[in-house]
Amino acid sequence: MKTASRKPIGSHRRIVIKIGSALLVDRKSGLKSAWLEAMSADIAGLKQRGIEVLVVSSGAIALGRSVLKLPSGALKLEESQAAAAVGQIALARAWSESLSRHDIVAGQILLTLGDTEERRRYLNARETLNQLMKMGAVPIINENDTVATTEIRYGDNDRLAARVATMAGADLLVLLSDIDGLYTAPPHQDPNAQFLEVIPAITPEIEAMAGGAASELSRGGMRTKIDAGKIATSAGCAMIIASGKPDHPLRDIENGTARSSWFAPSGTPVTARKTWIAGQLAPAGELLVDAGAEQALLGGKSLLPAGVKAVKGEFFRGDTVSIMGAHGREIARGLCGYDADEARLIAGRKTGDIEALLGYAGRSAMIHRDDMVMTATKARETIGA
Ligand code: GLU
Repeated sequence: MKTASRKPIGSHRRIVIKIGSALLVDRKSGLKSAWLEAMSADIAGLKQRGIEVLVVSSGAIALGRSVLKLPSGALKLEESQAAAAVGQIALARAWSESLSRHDIVAGQILLTLGDTEERRRYLNARETLNQLMKMGAVPIINENDTVATTEIRYGDNDRLAARVATMAGADLLVLLSDIDGLYTAPPHQDPNAQFLEVIPAITPEIEAMAGGAASELSRGGMRTKIDAGKIATSAGCAMIIASGKPDHPLRDIENGTARSSWFAPSGTPVTARKTWIAGQLAPAGELLVDAGAEQALLGGKSLLPAGVKAVKGEFFRGDTVSIMGAHGREIARGLCGYDADEARLIAGRKTGDIEALLGYAGRSAMIHRDDMVMTATKARETIGA
């Protein structure tokens, strides 16, 4: 069933690559340097083609275990937190050194669950990611395992990577692990299991195929990969599950020499995100804008403080607010880049005045275009949702 068409890796704009622990860390010998070197070369190749790359790298706990020479078997929470502390610093260094051989700068980001689930922190984290990418750096991301407790954690990097992909507006998420893709049944249990190359939609039947298997070094099995697929594809991001075992897995997928499972995106990242914003139930405030700003918004621009005539309500940065046009009707909605008090201070003022008024540099936009949906023309903006 080939209902959706699969694009080559190289024709994507922004790719999140999730790397499973077992690919990077060998239980006995520690870091698999040769594999890492090959992956860095492939990342450099993608970047040369103008593709932005973010890496979600597992391996902190596994590497820490190996450095600390901990015996095999399950770790207590505090032991895995300590192992992660030791492993993460080594992992980050390895990435940084390896990418630097291609003149690529790496930046480490350690996330806790709230960083993607709470909107304000989500915006903050996204801003950092965007800034790093603007600077041409490659974010190396992991869960902040040293402080994550059992209740407040992603727990697996598959879902973390999917949240990162949607946060970064990526159009492709590649999950590399020791699992090469989705089968109609767990292949080690069922000799008739068929490999699926294209998954047009994650239906209940597809979910049932996932089973529950996880490899020893990582937490994620097929279950968490399908969960990741649901998060990514519903936000317009395609997903590939492939084996990362060969030295150049990305190249092999691209050449068609390695098989992989491709999950079709349900829309485009922009429309899906805007659908999410438009779907907010109760905007926390209102920004009244002048006719000039209204025109600018209709023309696809961000909302600048200069165009805001009045601010109503109490809200915090990252909350959804309504943008009211000249006739007192809602023309758009968006996530405000400022708290209500700050918005009042800078309303009607030029971008150049913001720093003096607030005492810090601030952002040029009151609501960035990426965080806004035109509600008056909602039908056009939310297609493909
Ligand atoms: N965050 C964990 C680590 O770096 C890995 C989680 C996973 O394997 O999914 O060790």
